Amino acid sequence: MKHAALWVILFCMPVRPASVPHSNRPAPSTQFADNSEVRSALAWFARNLAWINEQQSRLTEIPAPPFQEAQRAAAVKLLLASSGLEVQIDKTGNVIGELRGTNEKEMVVLSAHLDTVFPPSTEIKVRHDRDRLLAPGISDNGTGLAALIAIARACQESHIKPRRTILFVADVGEEGEGNLRGMRALIEAYKPKLKAVIVLDGSGTDHVTTKALASRRLEATINGPGGHSWSDFGMPNPINALVRASVRFINTKVPAAPRTTFNIGQIEGGTSINSIPYEAKLKVDIRSESEDELTKLESALRDCIAAGVRDEMESSRDRSKGKLEWKVELLGSRPGGELPANSSLLAALRSADEYVGNQSRIERSSTDANVPLAHGIDAISIGAGGTGGGAHSLQEWYEPAGREMGLKRVLLILLGASGLAEGKAR
Ligand SMILES: [Zn+2]
Repeated sequence: MKHAALWVILFCMPVRPASVPHSNRPAPSTQFADNSEVRSALAWFARNLAWINEQQSRLTEIPAPPFQEAQRAAAVKLLLASSGLEVQIDKTGNVIGELRGTNEKEMVVLSAHLDTVFPPSTEIKVRHDRDRLLAPGISDNGTGLAALIAIARACQESHIKPRRTILFVADVGEEGEGNLRGMRALIEAYKPKLKAVIVLDGSGTDHVTTKALASRRLEATINGPGGHSWSDFGMPNPINALVRASVRFINTKVPAAPRTTFNIGQIEGGTSINSIPYEAKLKVDIRSESEDELTKLESALRDCIAAGVRDEMESSRDRSKGKLEWKVELLGSRPGGELPANSSLLAALRSADEYVGNQSRIERSSTDANVPLAHGIDAISIGAGGTGGGAHSLQEWYEPAGREMGLKRVLLILLGASGLAEGKAR
């Protein structure tokens, strides 16, 4: 009976008031015949915290700009393989390490994205300031990758045998224009078998993303003939048109509920200060809790670009010198979706939170979990412990204090989703 004790604790502890009501939680269903391996895996983290910090720093220092994740992927592959997992890199660039379960027809994924938002020219050297690690990407997603590797190793060294097969995945293309291509490929490949996806993204243990925020990324381009600033003055100017369009667009009213946002994130164009440019471009990210609002905002952007071009043409002194062309292209779109409140994955998360003494609030966000959620596959995105800040900035930081609790939480959620093989005491 003592082997069952942990799971009795895990699933039967009295429910403390938490930030989210538990009324929909189903009765705990998973019963494990043996748990000494789980105890050993939970104890593994405390002994290996220094090693985990080292791996996080090492992986963070391997650049992984969008579409250039291969070098970091190779390093993660080695680490997963050295834990004894069967590891492959798929044709999209995802690293996939398999821990075979007794039921190979069902799978769960634990994933962490490889890519950063930083361009290849960014200098990435992890600095230490007391307990703090500082470097671009150290938290997002150095923390997730370090946790992925730590949990894989803890499972292997503790001889955990899951019921459902666990895929440990370091995926490409989560950030920006990567447009979740790694997760899309993964879901495409494994969809019929996939029962749950747990995404590790950044630090912390205070939140759980169960609602996928729908978003679209758009690029507006305006072209003209281009010319000399003095001799061709009066010719329609694509940058002028883009500025006129932008001012219109940023005055668009968006509702507070359903929350809807827009951001002009990049603007470029022109060749020199004394040339009338032949091209100007603008990248806009729009997000909403409602697909309808998203569609409205996308058409508002198109209207504003058209109007900006029209304004510039009307005010140009010499229209015989050419006209402006414009287009708005979709760079990416992330689907919406939501984890049902009565899902067993959410129950596993709540049980794990109870066990480690954590409370987490539900959030809506745009993460790798969007893809499985849009396909009706249970998925959550959580932080991997410790604390971090300054994500996507050069001042990004991470503090490992509290990491152990975060890792235990992830392990328990993962095993709650995979189950343990019955009667496989070693
Ligand atoms: Zn991230």
